[in-house]
Amino acid sequence: MSNFNTDIRFLKGVGEKRATELYRMGIDTIGALLRFYPRDYKDLGVITPIFDCNIGEKVCIKGKIITPITEHYIRKNMTLYKFSVRDDTGLMNVTMFNCKYTVKQLNEGCEYLFYGKIEANRFALQMTNPEISEVGSIGIHPVYPASEKISSKTIEKLMKTALTLPVEEDPLPEEIRNRYKLTDLKTALSNIHFPKSPEALASAKRRFVFEELFILQVGLMLLKGKRRTATESIIRQNYFGEFASLLPYKLTDAQKRAYNDCLKDMASGRVMNRLVQGDVGSGKTAVAAALMYSVAKNGYASALMAPTEILAEQHYKTVSEILEGSGINCCLITGSVSKGKKEKIKQGLKSGEYQIAIGTHALITDDVEFKNLGLVITDEQHRFGVAQRSKLAAKGKNVHTLVMSATPIPRTLGLIIYGDLDISIIDEYPKGRQQIESYTVTSELRPRVFNYIRKHLDEGRQGYIVCPLVEESEVEGLLSAEEYFENIAKKQLGGYRLGLLHGKMSSKDKDRIMRSFKEGEIDLLIATTVIEVGIDVPNAAIMVIENAERFGLSQLHQLRGRIGRGKCKSTCIFISDIKSDKTKERLQVITQSCDGFKIADEDLRLRGPGDFLGNRQHGLPKLKIADLFADSDTLRLAGMAAADILEHDPRLKADENLGLRAEIIALYKRLNEN
Ligand code: ADP
Ligand code: MG
Repeated sequence: MSNFNTDIRFLKGVGEKRATELYRMGIDTIGALLRFYPRDYKDLGVITPIFDCNIGEKVCIKGKIITPITEHYIRKNMTLYKFSVRDDTGLMNVTMFNCKYTVKQLNEGCEYLFYGKIEANRFALQMTNPEISEVGSIGIHPVYPASEKISSKTIEKLMKTALTLPVEEDPLPEEIRNRYKLTDLKTALSNIHFPKSPEALASAKRRFVFEELFILQVGLMLLKGKRRTATESIIRQNYFGEFASLLPYKLTDAQKRAYNDCLKDMASGRVMNRLVQGDVGSGKTAVAAALMYSVAKNGYASALMAPTEILAEQHYKTVSEILEGSGINCCLITGSVSKGKKEKIKQGLKSGEYQIAIGTHALITDDVEFKNLGLVITDEQHRFGVAQRSKLAAKGKNVHTLVMSATPIPRTLGLIIYGDLDISIIDEYPKGRQQIESYTVTSELRPRVFNYIRKHLDEGRQGYIVCPLVEESEVEGLLSAEEYFENIAKKQLGGYRLGLLHGKMSSKDKDRIMRSFKEGEIDLLIATTVIEVGIDVPNAAIMVIENAERFGLSQLHQLRGRIGRGKCKSTCIFISDIKSDKTKERLQVITQSCDGFKIADEDLRLRGPGDFLGNRQHGLPKLKIADLFADSDTLRLAGMAAADILEHDPRLKADENLGLRAEIIALYKRLNEN
């Protein structure tokens, strides 16, 4: 029997006080302690002679204390201890602050290991607060993320005790360990904490990275499978050809692929759970329309939910224009539809007069009822919580769901973040699109930028100027959209029809402005990032982004996606005066590429995955040791192994998979706590 599930307070050396602190650190069982991996290691294996020490270096010195240890009382809560250490090659002074407990255990004339940073103090070398160990403890030692109440050394001691206990069933079945050459749990645990050699440490790390990514993927695959419940809504007939004849253009191959993926799911007798991810402007709406058409022809209703009224109206307009005269009827439900009209629409939905409903979250209010709801689509899904999605889906029985998103997420991360969904990617733009030209300039060139804007507006085009958020204007040197509108735009662009749009406006006002822009009543929109999502105004051909360094790369890409949607050549100008290498590199990436996935990859590379993921609510547990970016190869291998094991043992009932099963149950517990 393993003790991994035993409460940590039953481990030898853990009293009540320590237990409380360990709980606080998330270490509640012996198993959790063993999985509390070191943050770093100190190598007490390589001893540096004092003579060879360089200032600033972290080294381990083996030396004898050759002076008495003097105690200096500085002030309350501050005592200093000093002594000298010598080896065969030289002398070093040691200063310790407040380390009464450690100092008490040291004896003059004895030899110890001193690990720390070499400093220079006048003529002598010095170490301040080195870690001091017995000479016998040569080797690689763990450094744990300690707290004020529990030191790394204490954890090290507890770990040694815990490692003597029998280990639990290895969550990696032997077969997989053999195939991927992974160390077994007992050896790996021992080596991750107390590595016998750098090589042993590396293979222990590899095993735990693999294990973490493996368990996560098995868990997500199982979730996916679970969600694939049987349904009676089977879309048997494909009406693609009929739909295509209604379109003024031909769908791209990528659009067709996404459509076919969905149709295959919906014909399977199991519920569809799919994400269609396509870069801005790749034409996701047309895919949605095609699906809703086929679903309607098969006798089921569909609902398409958008995050804002403007977007809902835009989708409604697009879809109803396509479907005009086809016999399929489509209605719009938003907060601004009048009460009387809404009643009539609801009646029509209930009776089956309308087969397609497009709207905002007004669609999920309780009294909207559907006749035979078969498909629910949410657009720009990151704006909706999972709860909202499922509330809409609950209006039917085992409804197919599709989410559409333009938020570019690097492919490897997409696998994890959307692990519970199947994914189709639209990686192609409609034909005839012109590449957007992008430039980065400093604000000195602003007069020329304004000339350029005027020229475009005079030709009948529209445009956007994007400024940082209203609240951000307190940062020195940043102009808010409001100030910009008053002080710059009105002066420089007098005579043009200007509009102002920012997040502090009421949604009614926002919608009003956006609508006039769409109708062509406004030439130039001064806006914050509220224009980010989904808006399709093909006549808008110029965008200027002020303080471009303030925005994330992916966000810049989303913003830029508002232009270049029509036939005319579009230009995007990033204005930034920041000259740091990092800013330059980022702006260079966005200027040179229009590929959302590539930009997302670069964004991830430049920002690091912690930051990248930190900005998203993805509902995944925090990874302990794996790094989705650096370990993407292992991620792939672990994914293969995960798929393989589930193919052979879909419910993880086999004896050799019991360890894995336990970990999956623990994972679900953590997922639910998130
Ligand atoms: P997004 O994927 O960003 O939601 P939209 O669905 O808004 O993109 O489509 C962007 C524009 O491209 C729309 O004006 C739409 O009419 C047009 N479009 C979509 N598919 C095609 C196609 N296959 N050929 C030409 N134009 C298309
Ligand atoms: Mg869209």
